[in-house]
Amino acid sequence: MHNYEIIIGLEVHVQLQTRSKLFCRCSTQFGAPPNTQTCPVCIGMPGSLPVMNREAFQLALKTAVAINCEIPEFTKWDRKQYYYPDLPKAYQISQFDLPMSEKGWLEISDSKGQFETKRVRITRAHLEEDAGKSMHDEAVGKADSRIDLNRTGTPLLEIVSEPDLRSPEESRAYLTELKLLLTYLGVSDCNMQEGSLRVDANINLHVDTPNGIVATPIVEVKNLNSFRAVERALQFEAKRQYEVWEETGISKDKPGGHKSTRGWDDQSQVTRGQRQKEESSDYRYFPDPDLVPVVVKPEEVDEVRSSLGELPAALRGRLQATYGIDAYDADVIVNQGRELVDYYVSLTELAGDPKRASNWIQQDVMRALNERQISILDFSISAGGLAELLNAIENGVIDNTRGKDVFMEMLDSGSSAAKAMNKLGIERVDASAVTNLCKELVDGSPKIVADVKAGNQKAIGALIGQAKRSNPNVNPNDVRRICLDLIEQM
Ligand SMILES: [Zn+2]
Repeated sequence: MHNYEIIIGLEVHVQLQTRSKLFCRCSTQFGAPPNTQTCPVCIGMPGSLPVMNREAFQLALKTAVAINCEIPEFTKWDRKQYYYPDLPKAYQISQFDLPMSEKGWLEISDSKGQFETKRVRITRAHLEEDAGKSMHDEAVGKADSRIDLNRTGTPLLEIVSEPDLRSPEESRAYLTELKLLLTYLGVSDCNMQEGSLRVDANINLHVDTPNGIVATPIVEVKNLNSFRAVERALQFEAKRQYEVWEETGISKDKPGGHKSTRGWDDQSQVTRGQRQKEESSDYRYFPDPDLVPVVVKPEEVDEVRSSLGELPAALRGRLQATYGIDAYDADVIVNQGRELVDYYVSLTELAGDPKRASNWIQQDVMRALNERQISILDFSISAGGLAELLNAIENGVIDNTRGKDVFMEMLDSGSSAAKAMNKLGIERVDASAVTNLCKELVDGSPKIVADVKAGNQKAIGALIGQAKRSNPNVNPNDVRRICLDLIEQM
């Protein structure tokens, strides 16, 4: 067994969230009946002329700036020519040698510490039009294929990374971070089921041999419909490539070492060979004579940059620096979206303890949101309302466990913390009443006292249970502290 390094680069196609297509005014709404959102431009009728959708270009620009790309002042459109039934023009309008952006990067980190924080270089991000969709009838005895051209011409941003990723886990982290960024920017809904975000992965191995590093042939893996599928497919492919290399010795620069394409079969969890990959010369790119090039002035780029708002990486840093929560907690909160971050910030400003606020959000609030399938914007407990509850816990009016009951009551009835506590009969227990209760319990439990005196601190739990049964409003921490004090004095 030789050591090897996994070399991965990702191509991500993102559908931009515009109302109309890239070069015509047809709607981009998903789910319409087939072929109802088409016009002479997007189905390529002779004599029709494309006109660029400014909004699409702006969204692409926003994304390119957010992934730290350089934005050239001049960019143009090219025809990428190939024949396919879902491409009636027989060419796709794309960008070849002068893309709208290049040389960017995206930083990935792992709050669980599985890999080091790193910058993944981005080769380029360019704008192009999407193709239509082929629907293959797989019913037995039928061999029909139908074409839906509604998707034809939808704006697509292709983001190509350098082969900087070194593991399936890093690849998943890159995709997760990119998707989060796109969501914060509001440029795409990133819905993978609807094909708004599609991933192709390029992978090969650098095998450490006594004669030096040997690179295995590059494989492009397609048909990856979830981040989990990307991770699994890359794990499978790394293992497969190593086995093939051991068996055949074929490397990238030997005969038979050309790049190939494989598709991921999610049911069988394997990759399978597909057609040979075209070289870019096969596409015979040439500048589209129907479209004018786009000029982007540096002032425009500056304007876009200043309008980006606070992005996920910066937000995570701010939550950690301002509130002292750890990387993992900041990660969880930021991953839920900007609205939840705002909720957390308001809560913490009002309720003091940032760690407690973060725990309540991650456990109780997020669970309630998931169960109800709603966003924080529709959540019935405001940050102020929850702060009231957390302050009652902080001040020892109620303990955390009773707090959960209050939370559920607030959730169900929509009332304030004070009202909910009232309804549940929760009131502050007088300090002397707690002391008296503890005295009674200690006096009546010689066995427990002996156990605690013998060093078994856990025995105190039984007294806390009795105290709670006698008065559900007592704070268990108070009971523990007072009982231990009393026993010590005995
Ligand atoms: Zn159209």
